[in-house]
Amino acid sequence: MTRSLRQEGAMRDNTLRIALAGNPNSGKTTLFNALTGARHKVGNYPGVTVEKREGIRARAGRQYRFIDLPGIYSLTAYSIDEVVARDFLLEEKPDIIVDVLDSTNLERNLYLCLQMQELGIPVVGALNMSDEAAAKGMLIDEKNLAETLGIPMVKTVGPKGKGIEELLDCIDRAKAPQEAGRLIHDKFINYKEEIEAKLGALQSLIGEDKAFGAKYPERWLAVKLLEKDADAYSRLKEHAKAPEVEKAAHDAALWIEKHFGKDSEIIMSEQRYGYIRGAARESVRVTKTADFSFTEKIDAVIMHKFLSLPIFLFVLWGVFQLTFLLGEYPMQALENFFGFLSGRLNEAVSSDVLRSLVVDGIIGGVGGVFSFVPLIVILFFLLSILEDTGYMSRAAFATDKLLHTFGLHGQSVFPMMLGFGCSVPAVMASRTLKNPRDRIITILITPLMSCGAKLPVHVLLAAAFFPDNPANMVILIYSIGVVLALGSALALKRTVLKGDPTPFVMELPPYRAPTLQGVLWHVWEKTWQYVKKAGTVILASAVLIWAVTHFPAYELSDEAQAELAAAFLLENPGADGAALENYIETSAAESALAYSYAGRLGKFIEPVFRPMGFTWKIAAASILGFAAKEVIVSTLGIIYRVGTEETEESEGLREAIRSDPDMMPLTAFALMLFTLIIPPCFAALAAIRAEIGWKWLGFEAGFLLIAGWAVSSAVYQIGRLVL
Ligand code: GDP
Ligand code: MG
Repeated sequence: MTRSLRQEGAMRDNTLRIALAGNPNSGKTTLFNALTGARHKVGNYPGVTVEKREGIRARAGRQYRFIDLPGIYSLTAYSIDEVVARDFLLEEKPDIIVDVLDSTNLERNLYLCLQMQELGIPVVGALNMSDEAAAKGMLIDEKNLAETLGIPMVKTVGPKGKGIEELLDCIDRAKAPQEAGRLIHDKFINYKEEIEAKLGALQSLIGEDKAFGAKYPERWLAVKLLEKDADAYSRLKEHAKAPEVEKAAHDAALWIEKHFGKDSEIIMSEQRYGYIRGAARESVRVTKTADFSFTEKIDAVIMHKFLSLPIFLFVLWGVFQLTFLLGEYPMQALENFFGFLSGRLNEAVSSDVLRSLVVDGIIGGVGGVFSFVPLIVILFFLLSILEDTGYMSRAAFATDKLLHTFGLHGQSVFPMMLGFGCSVPAVMASRTLKNPRDRIITILITPLMSCGAKLPVHVLLAAAFFPDNPANMVILIYSIGVVLALGSALALKRTVLKGDPTPFVMELPPYRAPTLQGVLWHVWEKTWQYVKKAGTVILASAVLIWAVTHFPAYELSDEAQAELAAAFLLENPGADGAALENYIETSAAESALAYSYAGRLGKFIEPVFRPMGFTWKIAAASILGFAAKEVIVSTLGIIYRVGTEETEESEGLREAIRSDPDMMPLTAFALMLFTLIIPPCFAALAAIRAEIGWKWLGFEAGFLLIAGWAVSSAVYQIGRLVL
């Protein structure tokens, strides 16, 4: 008992909990991955990490638990990211904070660093991107900087893993400062004398409540109170003498404002910047005067006042064109492969039910979804390149003006673009938006950005019914999605979510050559998700759907068969035996489908779908597709294989759908619209609930359901009148 307790104590001593904090895009996740061997998503875009993640590194009998926090600029708790990071630091009290600094932007990055130092937790600075700083001609004397600020500093290069061991050494020393001789953690930024006097008085007043003092660092709280930080004031409520401290803080802030003639918050931040500038002047030498850099030259064109938006639209158009151009061949090959496989299995499996399950159910369903893997791979590859080069941030600027007209934000563009891939990360990426209203709107409209799972539906229908230019058709659907998204944003802004967009503050990361490893990782991660979904959810639903389309079993009676034959011969007097047999088999399969559970469900629900021009087959597929949009394709695969089972000339699903007399190009278009607009898959709905709660989820589901039905019905009805 005692022994195990002691062991536990030893373990605790030997485990360090280390928070990785820093500005967005400073390389935290890259360093986290290098430190822990994890492979989390990094991206050349502020705000990619929206949740904290943990990873472990063991070295010399010691465990280092790293927590990757979202990127923040300050500890003021304006945005969700800041709240997450700040709550973590205050409440979980890590042993050490590693502040990941972008060395090329040292002064701004140090602002956060100094705020964290005031928390009273040992801070270690990782001077990341030191390769880029060196390339820019910035010589940073990290020893001198460390001495001046009282924060140990180590130069690192995240993607190369440079400086990792030194960083761990530094963490060890920071944990045991006595071993390293008198080191530096007892130092803080010094404000002006008058301010220090006020801080001192506040600190001792706060310190009078010992329990409270143990929870919140006195110095930090005193500073925040002088800065009139709302969150700090609400935390102060737990203090035994809260009203007294509060009054003292108000008075002090007022005094400072009178004395300096400026807002106390501004005074504090000016002082910090002054201190940083002084420290930087002593430790950083710039050997090259920055010439008109590579990034600036490119931005002169890409960020041009009039060109930026057309360039963005062209880039988007190019991404989709290229996706279809490159995707066509591997997709065709996969379709052929599955066709070949079905043929083989058709011969090899003797049991009727088993053959039908394998060929119609599994291969028809899952194969249909698998055939789209090449498209997904290419789309994600291109989007990753845009993100990693730094273009996405430019897109945010380029679209900012335009999006403002719709009550949105340039920052909404990244979640929206991610939505083309998958709504789940897109919904999560909306966390970077500071204003809760903007965030809710962005989340609510991202499902209208047609995602990777809807792509198969669009492609299938476009290829079958608009063979002249399927790519343009798909792009049209995507564009309609964007227009609907913008329109909804405007409507929401005018009604339930009134208010002005917050001013746009986002920085432009420099252009970087994307690393092959990084891009491949993104692609692999996304593709694997898709494949996994096809192998599990879609496989299971394919089997289920096969079952509901094949049972209860249907037998064509002899009389019915004779009747069919008579009717057929009456209409086609000269027909030969093969045509007759073909006709009877097709009709039998049709009747079997209509007789099955799926057929009954489809027929039951058909009246609701009728205004959109959908027959019960499409109705059944759409309903089953609510869980995940790929299921629509696999269901159609199963339904139409059933309908044309033995007609040997069926050249796959496209052919089969096209030959359905109830399907016209207009119906296909209505179905594409319906698929585009109806609520996203269950995974995305869960993400929406997690981000903004049940109430908004209910609103979203209802809104999209009604909108999907209304738009498709209107298009179909008007189309019928006009065409
Ligand atoms: P985070 O937002 O702080 O998590 O930043 P990420 O880890 O996602 O990195 C942002 C971008 O900077 C990515 O494109 C990284 O490949 C790149 N990056 C990170 N560290 C370094 C570095 O030390 N040197 C250079 N040249 N690039 C880096
Ligand atoms: Mg990150």
